[in-house]
Amino acid sequence: METQITQQIGYFGNYGGQFVPPHLAEKLNALYEAFLFYKEDATFKEEYVRLLQTYVGRPSPLYYANNLSQKLGNRIYLKREDLNHTGSHKINNTIGQILLAKRMGATEIIAETGAGQHGVATATAAALMGIKCKIFMGQVDTERQRMNVERMKVLGAEVLSAKEGRGTLKDAVDMALGYYVENPQSYYLLGSAVGPHPYPLIVRYFQSVISEEMKKQILEMEGQLPDAIIACIGGGSNAIGAFASFIEHSEVDLVGAEGAGESMQLGQTAATLTLGKPMVFQGANSLCLANENNEPLPSASIAAGLDYPGIGPEHAHLKETGRAKYYPITDEEALKAYRLLSQTEGIIPAIESAHAVAAVDKYYKDKNALIVINLSGRGDKDVSRL
Ligand SMILES: *Cc1c(COP(=O)(O)O)cnc(C)c1O
Repeated sequence: METQITQQIGYFGNYGGQFVPPHLAEKLNALYEAFLFYKEDATFKEEYVRLLQTYVGRPSPLYYANNLSQKLGNRIYLKREDLNHTGSHKINNTIGQILLAKRMGATEIIAETGAGQHGVATATAAALMGIKCKIFMGQVDTERQRMNVERMKVLGAEVLSAKEGRGTLKDAVDMALGYYVENPQSYYLLGSAVGPHPYPLIVRYFQSVISEEMKKQILEMEGQLPDAIIACIGGGSNAIGAFASFIEHSEVDLVGAEGAGESMQLGQTAATLTLGKPMVFQGANSLCLANENNEPLPSASIAAGLDYPGIGPEHAHLKETGRAKYYPITDEEALKAYRLLSQTEGIIPAIESAHAVAAVDKYYKDKNALIVINLSGRGDKDVSRL
């Protein structure tokens, strides 16, 4: 089953699109034009690949986790995105988009961030390119993610805090969008495969390097494709990057592990793909946690990077068509997997990535399957919180 973009622009089946005011649509369409042009441009591609190799440290290794395999009764490989510069997959996308921004003549990069991981990756790329950078962050998040705020400042970025609403990611997005509309020379560097067209396509493109490498590596090491690929899901960028090259291989299970913390407002666990409704949220039609009046509800997860009420439109489509499966993982299950991987393999995963490990324990235990877990990031940031 191929993921197709249907007649209306930027759609994955019934999901996606571009639900924005006309002046913003104009900017986004210019971005789409630039993306279509430069992704075929040899000099652009050469610069992107060179930076991935010499600056980010790609290809990231595919590691056979023997101890974990013994424990969970499968043959488990880890795709080591945690070893990238800045410690997660996010840098694949920020490097790609900043090269695009530079070509488009942008003099300023703006981005919003929840946990601060995307803010750090953006500030890093901006420092590398010598472009000014503003990061928008909810007031509450700037307090609970102080270390990442300090990292962004050291890298030369300006951090602006959004005091509206709950002071979290959704409010930072609203503030960044307002700034973007008023400042034509700025480039909005979106960090996940979410939002209006063309962002889901652009982010997917730059993160697909994960599955391109994975496919080559597993064929070299095992001589076959894996039975399953498992990734955690926040907005869905590391997962779509890990799935992309395997979507056409229907024999490979694609599995997303989403954060399902207890939500006071919902009175139950908050898992977007499991419980979300189709609606327009922050520029695109996708699934979203919402009440009966279709007002977005706050998500809940121990993992800041998974704590988002929306989801990228391609995942909504992959779920609807049955090509990918999405399972909820509770905070306790993620914590257990976090300790398990740390103590069996000596690899401390990001608490986000631990959700993918937990999904193997919960849904794939003793299946004797060949599994690749996309280890989206490293967990140094989480040791003091857990
Ligand atoms: C941001 C982040 C995520 C979640 O974002 P996606 O767009 O769903 O990949 C997952 N893992 C880590 C380590 C992150 O920093």
